[in-house]
Amino acid sequence: MILTYKTYVLEYKHPFGVSSNTRSSTTSVFIKLEYEGKMGYGEACLPAYLGETVEGTIAFFEKAKPVLIKHKFPFSATQIVEEIDKLSNANNPAKAAINIALHDLLGKLAGKPFYEVMGFSRSEPMATSYTIGIDHENVIEQKINEAAEFSILKIKAGTKDDKALINLIRKYTDKPLYVDVNQGWKNKEEVLDMLFWLKEKNVILIEQPMSTNMLNEMAWVTERSPIPTIADESVKRLKDLDQIKNCFSGINIKLMKSSGLTEALEMINYAKKNNLKILLGCMAESSCATSAMAQLMKFADYIDLDAPQLLKNDPFKGIEYKNGNVYLNDLAGIGVEPIDTLF
Ligand code: MG
Repeated sequence: MILTYKTYVLEYKHPFGVSSNTRSSTTSVFIKLEYEGKMGYGEACLPAYLGETVEGTIAFFEKAKPVLIKHKFPFSATQIVEEIDKLSNANNPAKAAINIALHDLLGKLAGKPFYEVMGFSRSEPMATSYTIGIDHENVIEQKINEAAEFSILKIKAGTKDDKALINLIRKYTDKPLYVDVNQGWKNKEEVLDMLFWLKEKNVILIEQPMSTNMLNEMAWVTERSPIPTIADESVKRLKDLDQIKNCFSGINIKLMKSSGLTEALEMINYAKKNNLKILLGCMAESSCATSAMAQLMKFADYIDLDAPQLLKNDPFKGIEYKNGNVYLNDLAGIGVEPIDTLF
């Protein structure tokens, strides 16, 4: 397999605000894995909080090239994934890109969609949340209007006055909400009071209310919470799950954290065995990585796969959005095609 990569700046329709920062664009590194004329595509998305850089990601791809080139069809995906994982202790987005591209390529070589190659059935369309970032009131109103077709909204909280923010949202819509605090709240009693208040406001789950180092407090809150508590920053890979399984009601699995589809599936299995709810999420990714994750939506309790909808210049075609639902297509692999100018 021959690996090539290309950096690409993804631009947001609106500057995107969370409790820690606001951005108007983000850089992904896309890859192409080529074998006997067939191409598999992957994406490494690099949000600042993961501590990953474009340079580090490209350096990892260079390290992976000699591993990939020696494998011949029929590939053992498991063996390649293990070899790639051993190349470094970090670089989960780069590993994810290779993992996605490998599964895309395997599907294309077999002429089958990913889910069929993996031996499970196709996911039915599923409602995704649509994210409303932190913003000024007039922009929030505009974003809610733009999200008219989506049946669930995800609100980025952790502001100075989150009750005011939710009351503001409720001026414009009564849709069910996911609230993502991005570690913004500090006091467990106040968090619990807030969760009861939010339940009354038709908030149906809360994501990462407190810091990753407040696991005991989080366990206390989860035990008493009227709505599911979902770990995001507190969990990246499978090995993190033992530590947090009794502290949250569920986990947000993202390919850029898990190192790809292989480990995302292992995390899904772990969650099912341990009675954890499953939210499939994404970073600020294009249709490439998001379409890969959507292959797994049949296993999810909730999906938050709206990232391509927030972009101005998505360089891939893949999953489709109709009436706020995510639809898989029947194409081989992860079902994506790049724009002509990407590679
Ligand atoms: Mg989150």
